[in-house]
Amino acid sequence: MTNHRPYVGRFAPSPTGRLHLGSMVAAVASYLDARAHDGSWLVRIEDLDPPREVAGASDDILRMLAGFGLEWDGEVAYQSKRHALYQSAFENLLQSELAFGCICTRKKLAAAGGLEVYPGWCRDGLPLDTTPRLYRFRMPNGENLAWNDRIQGPQSVPREDVGDVVILRADGHWAYHLAVVVDDAEQGVTDVVRGADLLSSTAAHVALQHALQLPSIRYAHVPVVANDQGQKLSKQTLATPVEVANAPSLLQNTFEHLGLPRVAVDVPAKMLEEARAHWKEMRC
Ligand code: GLU
Repeated sequence: MTNHRPYVGRFAPSPTGRLHLGSMVAAVASYLDARAHDGSWLVRIEDLDPPREVAGASDDILRMLAGFGLEWDGEVAYQSKRHALYQSAFENLLQSELAFGCICTRKKLAAAGGLEVYPGWCRDGLPLDTTPRLYRFRMPNGENLAWNDRIQGPQSVPREDVGDVVILRADGHWAYHLAVVVDDAEQGVTDVVRGADLLSSTAAHVALQHALQLPSIRYAHVPVVANDQGQKLSKQTLATPVEVANAPSLLQNTFEHLGLPRVAVDVPAKMLEEARAHWKEMRC
């Protein structure tokens, strides 16, 4: 596996709004895990989807991380500046016939029963002189996609449940699945700790790592935070943004959510130091 590589973790927020308790849980968990392993912790802003981005959100996220004592290593990476890497991975997949152009519209897929798993209509090629609208990864046949999630346990997902995921979108933007896999490898990430809402994306990531011959990654998916109605906290469910002034109480809430004991100090950097020791005992 990846044990011989030095631990590198990361937090990879999309600048679609301000951080809320749910995103803070992912930030804190990935930070504590990295520090408990004496590893590095990177921050990567996933600004690949301009239509969904909010002006000022990237800076605000970085300000919150700093205010909460979550110090990252090195320069912040911005996906918007890394298009050449995605292009080269894309060409690599095309050359190995692991990518194909597709002309299916969302409307057509919805009319055929849903958008969840692509039914493979364009897999065998497009009619002559047809320009693809988008590109998909050609999911190879084979055994289930399997990995051992450090928190959720062993996972095994049939390839047909994932299907041919989009890698280059119809609006010309690189898709999340391709960019995240390329970046994690290029940045030497060994460990991804993130919210369990992304557990279902991991099978696609594992398949893409194999296809691009990239090293495997260890995954740990922490439980997501829900509101009183049981909905995952998100911008859509109008989660309250975090404020630096409330950092001590929000950090205690975050630790509690992660199953860690309360800490006896109230300065963010010191709180994280104590929580790191607890995480190390419980999770490493
Ligand atoms: N950018 C993604 C998000 O904010 C997270 C990506 C990841 O951790 O893999 O939901």
